[in-house]
Amino acid sequence: MPAMNLARPVPPVFDTIEAERLHRKQRLAAGFRLFSRFGFDEGVAGHITARDPEFEDCFWVNPFGMHFGQIRVSDLLMVNHLGEVVVGDLPVNQAAFAIHSQVHAARPDVVAAAHSHSVYGKSWSSLGRVLDPITQDACAFYDDHAMFDDFTGVVLDTEEGKRIAYALGSGKAAILRNHGLLTVGQTVDEAVWWFITMERSCQAQLLAEAAGTPILIGHDMALLTSEQVGSHDAGWFSFQPLWDRIVREQPDLLD
Ligand SMILES: [Zn+2]
Repeated sequence: MPAMNLARPVPPVFDTIEAERLHRKQRLAAGFRLFSRFGFDEGVAGHITARDPEFEDCFWVNPFGMHFGQIRVSDLLMVNHLGEVVVGDLPVNQAAFAIHSQVHAARPDVVAAAHSHSVYGKSWSSLGRVLDPITQDACAFYDDHAMFDDFTGVVLDTEEGKRIAYALGSGKAAILRNHGLLTVGQTVDEAVWWFITMERSCQAQLLAEAAGTPILIGHDMALLTSEQVGSHDAGWFSFQPLWDRIVREQPDLLD
């Protein structure tokens, strides 16, 4: 009897640009539905972007003012490096362009970036501290996320976006002080997963510090755990059951 292949799945590769574009757009629409399901919506705030696989200075993004919970593949906009909507006929959030255009420009490895005003992320952001390695899950961010230690109102200027991208550095996430979380990934799946688990790690640290003094995981063990739960493939893989669930529950997201 042949041995079963028990290797963990890895991100797919595509034969055509069109197939890769459609895949990114489907994952992006699913990301918005999941953000809604997890309660990360706050009025019109928040954006997730996916770099186009062909026009690499363009990215796909949600229309300004459309609820995350209603976004379909066909609603997504493509925006160029000047902030012009080149596919779609709805407006783009200027803050989405100001932040994401600069992150995508500064980080060629980044395919997707996610940001919202989720409750625990913005609460934690007001403390002006990075997350500590207090749980196995939080170790995904150990030595791999940054604090953007400034707040100057709604980000409408690409110069501010540049400063956020600079603070992000080579990491997978940044905490924008008094604002919220920003995560990035080499796939849409990864960026969305990092956001979901980072929001929960903010919640966990807020709860733990409200109750007492958390015991920190030591440096060497936090680094080891980071390699286990914080890799690109681990982030991608963690998203797959969420994708399966949201597509089964809300198949219209693929329209
Ligand atoms: Zn924001």
